[in-house]
Amino acid sequence: MNIKICLLPGDGIGPEIITQAVRVLEKTATHFTHTIETQTALIGGVAIDAVGEPLPKATIAACQSSDAVLLGAVGGPKWDNIDPAIRPEKGLLGIRKALGLFANLRPAVLFPELVKASYLRPDIVRQGLDIMVVRELTGGAYFGEPRGETIINGERAAFNTMIYAESEIERIVRMACEIAMKRSKRLCSVDKANVLDVSRLWREVTIRTAAEYPDVQLSHMYVDNAAMQLIRDPSQFDVLVTENLFGDILSDEASMLTGSIGMLPSASMGADGPALFEPIHGSAPDIAGQDKANPLATILSVSMLLRYSFGLEAEALAIEKAVQSVLAQGYRTGDIYVGEGTQVGCAAMGSLVVDAIG
Ligand code: NAD
Repeated sequence: MNIKICLLPGDGIGPEIITQAVRVLEKTATHFTHTIETQTALIGGVAIDAVGEPLPKATIAACQSSDAVLLGAVGGPKWDNIDPAIRPEKGLLGIRKALGLFANLRPAVLFPELVKASYLRPDIVRQGLDIMVVRELTGGAYFGEPRGETIINGERAAFNTMIYAESEIERIVRMACEIAMKRSKRLCSVDKANVLDVSRLWREVTIRTAAEYPDVQLSHMYVDNAAMQLIRDPSQFDVLVTENLFGDILSDEASMLTGSIGMLPSASMGADGPALFEPIHGSAPDIAGQDKANPLATILSVSMLLRYSFGLEAEALAIEKAVQSVLAQGYRTGDIYVGEGTQVGCAAMGSLVVDAIG
């Protein structure tokens, strides 16, 4: 297979982690006899410096002409005080919009080797964790209209609208069902149907849509309970699907169960066209250029890219197994080092994973 990818290294540690991820991709492709075609484009602060805007048109075109996009991170103190209209983060929002990415897949995986790095008690996470949060990304309160400020009874008031159309719910639930089918076929939909009208529609449409997938075991949970259960007994969950605001909060909560944000990949997907894969962390300006960054979140993003954009399950598993074996041998970057094993830098960690493939 020919794998055509657009690379967006971005700012801070972005170029370092993308370099290691591409090495892993190339090794995997060679091992499974695929060919890789990459092009690199500008996004974020480096794009502002080069051409005066965080998402040049050439970058959108490069992404649209690829099968998938692999992003490092954007932003940093250098661009903190510039015109808000062209902040680096606008590049990220812009590319998600340009590619029509409505689903955010955030796996929270705790490798058993890293149980000590988790903030939870070892008896709760002894077996490790493997949860997939599927968050709706383009609707709900963050985008709903009307929104704004008004005067009520002589004082300022502000409001947003949490609104979902049936079609928006259907497409995200369908995607979550497809993902559940590839995993343990358990799907939990998180809402607040005891209070919110929008959640009642969410639940109704979810039940209707999931009925198309009779093998998927669907359950429902109120968001306040889900927030508690993620801490109390996270291994009860497999795939969670939820709307934008709830998903924003729950996916961050789930990621903290695993200890380090340096370990967590993500995918943003649309109905068709290229999807975007990126680590969940930012550009880590405090460690940029020092060979200290953990490249594993980006390397695991490559694994998601192969699985979800190309259906290459064996290749994705090969990368995940390579990461696990490197961790089992005791190698750690600084962010996941808890006094045992061997501490290594970004490039050395990349080399270890490359060597462990095949
Ligand atoms: P951050 O994720 O960049 O860093 C938070 C902490 O985690 C830092 O101490 C950092 O050193 C550490 N860290 C992050 N990734 C790491 C890795 N791979 N290996 C080891 N340690 C790692 O968040 P922040 O400091 O709040 O933000 C820094 C910049 O990144 C800001 O400009 C912010 O806007 C931007 N940001 C970008 C994205 C993105 O591109 N998707 C996401 C979040 C923040």
